[in-house]
Amino acid sequence: MDLIFFGIQGSGKGTQAKKLAAEFGYDIFEAGGELRKIAASGSELGNLVKTYVDAGNLVPHEIIMQVVKEAILSRPKDQKILFDGIPRDTNQMKDFDDIMQSAVRDFVVIYFDLDRQTAIERLKGRASIEGRADDADEQAVLRRFQIFEEKTKPVFDEYKKQGKVKAEIKADRSVEEIYEELKKVVS
Ligand code: AMP
Repeated sequence: MDLIFFGIQGSGKGTQAKKLAAEFGYDIFEAGGELRKIAASGSELGNLVKTYVDAGNLVPHEIIMQVVKEAILSRPKDQKILFDGIPRDTNQMKDFDDIMQSAVRDFVVIYFDLDRQTAIERLKGRASIEGRADDADEQAVLRRFQIFEEKTKPVFDEYKKQGKVKAEIKADRSVEEIYEELKKVVS
């Protein structure tokens, strides 16, 4: 069974994904990370992607769906995947669900719940450690929160209606506390 992590930027889902993947053998598909790699490549596509990522806007639908589709289809069926950062709007959700269905893969959803103020504090710390332009730029941070509320939350709500949400985890705690709860949910 695959997993999808939802949560605002700074909710710690990336950190939890790494811990869980290491212990339970998931491959992580981190949408933002994949797009940052493309942006850093210096290709024409990369330069285009970079303009969206730096501003905190969603990159065009076809680009991200092509990347995730390749990632899904290139993996053997028995390799569990942990999706972080996709699907992010209802269009992506529709195509994502179709790809997963044709690949005969099933998934459940886990939500990391964090208030904006705490998230902003965490992102400031991350910006200086990782040097991410979109974390350092306040406008880009606010834009990403806004997109989460307006576009991504409805995806989560729909999965909830479908009974796919396995847990909603309070993320204003230490990495270890959150991980303990996550492990119970997954195992
Ligand atoms: P994140 O690392 O999840 O904060 O994502 C960083 C940036 O990558 C976002 O602000 C978007 O510009 C882009 N991005 C990540 N995931 C997606 C997605 N599913 N669809 C479109 N753009 C995305």
